[in-house]
Amino acid sequence: MQVKFNFTNQHHCPAGVVHCEDFRFWQAIGLYLRGELQLDHYDLISLAGGGKNILSCDLNNAEDIVTKSINVSFDLHQANTLVIINHRDCGAYGGSQVFNHDRNKEMDFHLDQLSQAKAKLIARYPDKKIIAVYVNLNDEKNLLDISSID
Ligand SMILES: [Zn+2]
Repeated sequence: MQVKFNFTNQHHCPAGVVHCEDFRFWQAIGLYLRGELQLDHYDLISLAGGGKNILSCDLNNAEDIVTKSINVSFDLHQANTLVIINHRDCGAYGGSQVFNHDRNKEMDFHLDQLSQAKAKLIARYPDKKIIAVYVNLNDEKNLLDISSID
């Protein structure tokens, strides 16, 4: 099989994206990144729990796998933005049942996680743009509401 490669002699991209590996979300997240954030190309750092990994990693340890992946984006690929994404019903956090399926309670928790992760990243990478995104799952309507948070 041969596949067209569009990046010959191109080694830079505008952003790294840390999001959960969950198969249910990555395609929609790709649409969001392209449509809302105008990110056509980005390093995809796919890890269970998304932003949870930022909180648990050591950003000052270059051998930490999360830190190493982020640094590849920033240093090697010269990205100036990192997007961190959490989603509702994330198995890495125990899923929606941990919140008794209370959508607002779960969202508040994730917004707090994302705020903490964003603050930690800004402290370590003050010259980079950090964007935090929450993917809310509306089961009844089979819809995702995806939005960035402050
Ligand atoms: Zn997840």
